[in-house]
Amino acid sequence: MRQFKTESKKLLDLMINSIYTNKEIFLRELISNASDALDKLSFEAVNNPDVQVDRDALAIDLAFDKDARTITVSDNGIGMTADELDKNLGTIAHSGSQEFKQANAEHQGDDMDIIGQFGVGFYSAFMVADRVRVVSRALGADAANAWESDGVTGYTVGAAEPGERDGADDHGTTITLHLRPSTDDEDTDKFLSEWGLRDLVRRYSNYVRYPVRMMVEKSRQKPKPEDAPEDYEPEYESYQELETLNSMTPIWKKRSSEVEQKDYDEFYTSTFHDWEKPARTISFHAEGALSYDALLFIPSQQPWDLYSKDYEKGLALYSSNVMIQEKCADLLPDYYNFVHGIVDSPDVTLNISRETLQQNSQLRAIARRVEKKVHSELCDMRDNDREAYEKFFKNFGRGLKFGIYSAYGSNAADLGQLLLFWSAREGKQVTFAEYVAGMKEGQDRIYYAAGDSQDRLGKMPVVKNAVDHGFDVLLCTEDVDEFMFQMMRSWHVDSQAGDSEHKGTEARDVEFQNVSDANLDLATEDEKKRAEEAAEGKDALLADLKEALGEKVGEVKVVAGLGEAPAAVASEGPISLEMERVAAQNPGGSEGMPEVRRVLQLNPGHPVFGKLVAAEDAGDKDRLKLLGQVLYDQALLVEGLPIDDPVEFAKNVTSLM
Ligand code: ADP
Ligand code: MG
Repeated sequence: MRQFKTESKKLLDLMINSIYTNKEIFLRELISNASDALDKLSFEAVNNPDVQVDRDALAIDLAFDKDARTITVSDNGIGMTADELDKNLGTIAHSGSQEFKQANAEHQGDDMDIIGQFGVGFYSAFMVADRVRVVSRALGADAANAWESDGVTGYTVGAAEPGERDGADDHGTTITLHLRPSTDDEDTDKFLSEWGLRDLVRRYSNYVRYPVRMMVEKSRQKPKPEDAPEDYEPEYESYQELETLNSMTPIWKKRSSEVEQKDYDEFYTSTFHDWEKPARTISFHAEGALSYDALLFIPSQQPWDLYSKDYEKGLALYSSNVMIQEKCADLLPDYYNFVHGIVDSPDVTLNISRETLQQNSQLRAIARRVEKKVHSELCDMRDNDREAYEKFFKNFGRGLKFGIYSAYGSNAADLGQLLLFWSAREGKQVTFAEYVAGMKEGQDRIYYAAGDSQDRLGKMPVVKNAVDHGFDVLLCTEDVDEFMFQMMRSWHVDSQAGDSEHKGTEARDVEFQNVSDANLDLATEDEKKRAEEAAEGKDALLADLKEALGEKVGEVKVVAGLGEAPAAVASEGPISLEMERVAAQNPGGSEGMPEVRRVLQLNPGHPVFGKLVAAEDAGDKDRLKLLGQVLYDQALLVEGLPIDDPVEFAKNVTSLM
């Protein structure tokens, strides 16, 4: 068989310019290689008695020279022979580290965390450099060798210059990047600065297990001279100090029993830029075919941009301590977009650029587990720390409701358990399960009222009346509420589900009903009978009122159970007046929505009813119309709904006075 011949030049060009979307990952790749070289050296030290290594001295050193426009990455790891330089850096897609990992597979994990696998990361250096020089001295070798390339024409391998790793113990590798000049669309200057390199290390390599160090400029106060005058002004001097830039400890790999909450809090606030401690911390670990460590946080306050379109959800994804993606959106469902955290897995199959993942089934498996964990943590909070949960719900409850709405209610069984609504009867927030547990004998609906103010909803005649009759009413003040109920249709009472309140009850579906629905029937038999008697022989009155109100109402009716209110406006059909109001606020929102049929309900027990009857009997159609219109408008106002013509209403009221 013939071998494929590769056009190395073209391949290299492809490699450098097409694989990565993000130039700044070059440093991540070089630091990862250095970390691998240090891992290999430690491994040698453990398995070969002739090799003596001072583990504390193992480090990765960064330096930059603004004038020469160079960045240097050096490690005191295992190094490479001339042969290895040729093979590892001269062959695209040849990974010495992958070979090493396979040869010593049983040790990966305990004292090794080899990162390299594809044999291309090194070439990312050419995205920012037009010349790269690698000087390497293999452990135990007599001399160092140098590899150099412009990333286009080819490379050279030869003896290193005097002074380049020429000490006997100077094993390891030094990589010098000669940066390309900055252009309009490519700023390489930013890498030639302390903060630039610091930032790259912190973002991508913060948890690499060896110290990544750099000489940094610091300033300190000079000691005060003995003979300092009275008005001595302190003097400052700058000095150089070797600083470790990375934090090294991946806190998510530890068992939660080994970590103090304050350390989690510290990690959370510094990593996710929140000044408040998290409400909850969730740490879990999976082992087996797909092993990973996860550390999640539920924030205690709402990020200011949560509802803006710039807000990006996602968990940070790490593989072997190196950051792959800052916000991996696939790990979180939209309705848990507030969750912050990290997932680290050596097993996820990365694509060659190590910027994204190759296959999503692994991610999906992790995402499912993440979702379950968040859900059960929230249930726990709901049951055991209601005050904190109410705060959580105030911050993030709306997103949960939208989650149900936009999935057409398919996830309502789970997410519904997390919802809270204000109970008119209890005067506090309750869950569906709690509502159902407090239902009156024979009650088969969850009643709710929808509008924009809880206070006003509580005062609505229909709500008061329902409560007086022993039925609790959920007061819903968010736009999404009623639309969500429509998607859910009913609440499934499941004795098996995570809702402790449902335990031992029979499984059934309880439908939602708006108390402003014209078909609502909460009156007692007695009340109904009295209303029927009052309505007897009043057909002409009702018809005349209907005529007087014209298109505004579909029907005028005498009903029982309006309590102290003279009248109410109810709706018939699937859309409520509140939904109509909400939809009308969104441009195009009411398009395609069926029109709501309004019913003016009259309370025969109210003195106003007598006035209507009197006007009808006197044949005074003008007065009947006036009374009818005022009744209709005031009922709308009570329910928090807009009236057609406030000026007309005011005129009508004045003329009645
Ligand atoms: P990968 O890290 O995926 O193997 P790279 O292109 O980053 O691919 O590196 C290619 C190979 O070069 C590595 O597998 C390793 O054998 C060798 N190598 C790169 N950098 C170093 C280093 N600093 N010390 C020792 N060997 C190195
Ligand atoms: Mg590499």
